[in-house]
Amino acid sequence: MIDSLHLMSNKEYKISVLSGDGIGPEVMAEAIRVIDKISSEFDVKFIIDEQLVGGIAIDKTSSPLPKETLKSCEQSDAILFGSVGGPKWESLPPDTQPERGALLPLRKHFGLFANLRPSICFPSLTNASPIRPDLVEGGFDVLCVRELTGGIYFGEPKEIKDQGDEKVAIDTMVYKESEIERIASVAFDAAMGRNKRVTSIDKANVLMNGILWRETVERVASKYPEIKLDHLYVDNAAMQLIRRPRDFDVVLAPNLFGDILSDEMAMIAGSLGMLASSSLGQSLGNGLYFGMYEPSGGSAPDIAGQGIANPCAQILSASLMLRYSFGLTDAADAIDLSVRKTIDSGFRTGDIFTNDEGTQRVNTNEMGDAILSNL
Ligand code: NAD
Repeated sequence: MIDSLHLMSNKEYKISVLSGDGIGPEVMAEAIRVIDKISSEFDVKFIIDEQLVGGIAIDKTSSPLPKETLKSCEQSDAILFGSVGGPKWESLPPDTQPERGALLPLRKHFGLFANLRPSICFPSLTNASPIRPDLVEGGFDVLCVRELTGGIYFGEPKEIKDQGDEKVAIDTMVYKESEIERIASVAFDAAMGRNKRVTSIDKANVLMNGILWRETVERVASKYPEIKLDHLYVDNAAMQLIRRPRDFDVVLAPNLFGDILSDEMAMIAGSLGMLASSSLGQSLGNGLYFGMYEPSGGSAPDIAGQGIANPCAQILSASLMLRYSFGLTDAADAIDLSVRKTIDSGFRTGDIFTNDEGTQRVNTNEMGDAILSNL
């Protein structure tokens, strides 16, 4: 990995582009066009290294994550990921399937401990949200920061064993202070570039983990005096996010609670094709991280090959990469704004088409054209 000082001075970034399967290559092509335009408009150089991953990698090399792909990622400043998987590879042994054989090893190899998922409902897309129009009028923009490598998903012991004449299942929730501090810092850093509010999620009324989580988050918060911090128990958070999504800015959650709440928030926003995500690992200093950036959705085999997928999530993933790995805030803002303008002016791929007045149905490439012309 190239160090951050080098990045700052030369304004040159190497990106491993792993398009994968299904709609992955179709939406990635639009994201690359956007990155190319950013390069010329903002005078930065991006070196794109396209590599195989997922099902297509299995077909060509017998491995969902070939050595060459991993090497390219190690030598890059960030990974831009499409999506992997599809019916063709579903009968393979689980560990060699595209998702388990590529995504999980990548997360593990690069220690990607922080998952950031913005849940954005544009004002002009509130019809796509399943919740009451008056609750989402004007849209909302909530960022879920989820701890990704600790907590109950990884704690030991983890087993099902015989006890007397029945079986007993054990999962163990473990968090070290250092793990909580690390993810809390990501959330506070992110909030500094947004509306400076963090809502931390726990279950401190029942779990020892919740008590340590809350104490540690409070301590990290003391280093960010400009940020307003509040705490919610996870059950209450699940309700409040539906009742008043516009009141939230950054939601900070442990692995299990973040898994559930980030899906709830994606649903409230209404459309999978619009939602980007990032998984961050090693800190590069200055609030920047090595990371992998990808749409929240999968390879969408039902529409793959038709050129009709929504490229916004992939394009917004590229924007997250510029923001969190390269510190190119102006360029990231420009991409976000161009996507918003495009949606506001009525361009809709099939997944977000509601036949409202002033809207027109477009394909993947036409949506990309419109975003580029607004950039
Ligand atoms: P999916 O997200 O691929 O599709 C769910 C629905 O959302 C489909 O109707 C699809 O057409 C639609 N959709 C998703 N993204 C869209 C976009 N950009 N534009 C328009 N419509 C979009 O989920 P699934 O059907 O459960 O999974 C399909 C495959 O993807 C499976 O093999 C699964 O394992 C894999 N998958 C991969 C990832 C990943 O690579 N990170 C994540 C989830 C699922």
